[in-house]
Amino acid sequence: MNEYGIPHMRALELLRDGFAAVAGSERVELGHALGRYLDAPVLAKESIPSFDNSAVDGYALSRSTLEKSPGGVVRVEGRVAAGETASPLPPGGACRIFTGAPAPEGADVILMDEDVPEHGTDANGAWIRLPENPPRSSNIRRRGEDLSEGDEALGTNTRLRPQDLAAAASMGMPALDCRRRVRVAVFSTGAELREPSAAKSSPASIVDSNRVLLFGLLKRLPVDVQDGGILPDNKDAITAALLSASKQNDLLVTSGGAGRGEEDHLVRILEEHGELLFRRIAIKPGRPLSVGFLSSDNPCGCIALPGNPVAVMVCFLMYARPVLLRLCGGGWERPEHFNVTANFSMSKKPGRREFQRGILQHKDNALTVARFEEQGSGILRSLRSADGLIELDEDTTQVSKGDEVRFLPFSSLGIDAP
Ligand code: AMP
Ligand code: MG
Repeated sequence: MNEYGIPHMRALELLRDGFAAVAGSERVELGHALGRYLDAPVLAKESIPSFDNSAVDGYALSRSTLEKSPGGVVRVEGRVAAGETASPLPPGGACRIFTGAPAPEGADVILMDEDVPEHGTDANGAWIRLPENPPRSSNIRRRGEDLSEGDEALGTNTRLRPQDLAAAASMGMPALDCRRRVRVAVFSTGAELREPSAAKSSPASIVDSNRVLLFGLLKRLPVDVQDGGILPDNKDAITAALLSASKQNDLLVTSGGAGRGEEDHLVRILEEHGELLFRRIAIKPGRPLSVGFLSSDNPCGCIALPGNPVAVMVCFLMYARPVLLRLCGGGWERPEHFNVTANFSMSKKPGRREFQRGILQHKDNALTVARFEEQGSGILRSLRSADGLIELDEDTTQVSKGDEVRFLPFSSLGIDAP
């Protein structure tokens, strides 16, 4: 803890240790399982592919036939297409075969059409000429080459991606056991706030933009969101709303009122009605961020985000998102980042971590990052122009053009590229 608050890394440790996956699972049909977390490992209930089959259109034959007389002629008997059953291969002969069809018994090579120099029909039926140089490839997709029966196809805590759903479908699994959806309530606090649809009641009123921002950020996760609306800067009203929501939700997310001012009530509420995990964090933007638990029968986590929209998004991505992923059943991983050359210079105060909005620039095959000019924490434009966050650690006091800086692309934080 320094004058600014607790260090970023310490906050992450407290969050990691303070939250665990919600209990409870449900069976989810594949069509609804995208983005959900598995509650148990999935074992392959059959081998994939479940039978040897052809990877190409061509002719099935044995390698000994293929290699015995290069350039010679071989009779073609039978034909098997995808979905059909193959008859055993005639000795010394070949069988016409198409992609996905089962390899006939006795065939260990499929000679693809492109490798057959000549083919035709005569009074005795169809024939092919063998290539002078027999290809090495078998062109057979072997039973179990993707998955063997009993293999762990998907691990516990996997977040289901389209390709994972395809694997489950390929094994004939129409539904999977997933962790239940996490329930999150979102509140805005501030006497100055009004709904986007509401008329301006006073010149000092502003429209609440944080809630829609948070709804959008939460939509990327397997959570059910309850809209808690706008709460006034009134301790009793905020307390009542949060305590009530804590009974039906796994996590409460608020914005505004997280600081130390007279009109800021979140920290006091968490202290008086629960337990504070930390208050104030040594970062910029987002210093007032506070996290705690409201005690009811089951303590419910509460992430009190600052009010400024840029701080809301930065704090959500850096702290609330990992907590939510953990509640949903995921692991605790640092988001993917990479180092990139700074195309800017700036000086910075030591003792706090900064998340600057950065814009990637591609020029002459080189990638650099520029810093969005206006870094004020109320300037949403900085987030809209940025491709991600430049993370400068506590010790950094100066960045010079050409230095390597850490960059967290929004895409690694669950926000699609534009
Ligand atoms: P606070 O943390 O409550 O002191 O708020 C910091 C700044 O963020 C103030 O200028 C607020 O008006 C602004 N603010 C707070 N909540 C919101 C919100 N929901 N939407 C837009 N701005 C907000
Ligand atoms: Mg306020």
